[in-house]
Amino acid sequence: DPYIASDRRYDGVPYRRVGESGLRLPAVSLGLWHNFGDDKPLQTQRDILRRAFDLGVTHFDLANNYGPPPGSAERNFGTLLAEDFRPYRDELIISSKAGWDMWPGPYGFGGSRKYLLSSLEQSLRRMGLDHVDIFYSHRPDPETPLEETMGALHSAVTSGKALHVGISSYSAELTARAQEIMRGLGTPLLIHQPSYSMLNRWVESDEDGASLLETAAAEGMGVIAFSPLAQGLLTDRYLAGVPEDSRAAAGKSLSGGMLSDDNLARVRGLAGIAAARGQTLAQMAIAWVLRDPAVTSALIGASSVAQLEDSVGAVANLAFTSEELAAIDEFAVD
Ligand code: NDP
Repeated sequence: DPYIASDRRYDGVPYRRVGESGLRLPAVSLGLWHNFGDDKPLQTQRDILRRAFDLGVTHFDLANNYGPPPGSAERNFGTLLAEDFRPYRDELIISSKAGWDMWPGPYGFGGSRKYLLSSLEQSLRRMGLDHVDIFYSHRPDPETPLEETMGALHSAVTSGKALHVGISSYSAELTARAQEIMRGLGTPLLIHQPSYSMLNRWVESDEDGASLLETAAAEGMGVIAFSPLAQGLLTDRYLAGVPEDSRAAAGKSLSGGMLSDDNLARVRGLAGIAAARGQTLAQMAIAWVLRDPAVTSALIGASSVAQLEDSVGAVANLAFTSEELAAIDEFAVD
């Protein structure tokens, strides 16, 4: 059945300005790291993407290596884009990245100009796009001069293959240096993509000077927080054991160590606070990363339409009292 997007799609999710740019992102964005590889039915992927767009989630985040196998998430997304979303291309912000291992040999990982620009070309071909909206350096590469990596991002924009560029998982200090280089080139970085959740607060830490959140704001960059649900831990998913169809059961990125008694006790404490707010824990975890105006968007994953709907429902209550924040701080520790 052909897809016709809901005509109420812009009625729910708020859009927030990305740093000092003219671009706005939905408060909740959808990532395709898990759940969009060749190991998952294409129909489920289609259902999740359609529902997301119908709810106002206009941003889909990918990377060259998402799958499994690497590249398959971009290929599957390209198929669904061609079949369902082609008429809506200009209503979508589609991102990709290069940085982690992608192909064999010395040019298939890291931050070199050779790798980044070759990988962007491959990503465009897999997705059937002539440009992405945001292209990221997926991780800092200490073995490549920052000037080379930033120069490659600048070229991605001047060649028309990316509208904007960003960085992921760079420290506060490296972020400030990167932005200085990019300002000199006339292509300021739009956005930073760090991990951030109630169980992972490194972006708030200012031990060595300004925190990443402060630095991004001062540098005019937006922030999109990845894994705000701590890969599913900050939901009701693991409160009664490890479900067979869960990411933890699959035993890859969410390791058993994350499900320690300490962490589960924190999750139970947080779930009680969420219930008192009339929210699910997933909804509170998303609202919580959005409480700082420096954070533009919460970048979630979802393995079902029901999860997606639950998570997007976070936008119904984004406000916190100082009492609630203090209660959360009792449990929200790294
Ligand atoms: P989340 O923290 O949102 O975890 C998503 C997982 O949580 C789902 O797969 C599901 O687990 C579970 N879940 C989601 N919603 C609910 C709900 N409402 N109720 C119960 N369980 C729920 O984010 P991800 O770790 O998936 O990361 C999100 C995106 O961030 C990625 O797709 C990617 O785009 C980006 N990312 C970027 C990285 C980078 O280096 N830049 C690194 C990691 C992620 P289950 O599958 O078990 O059902």
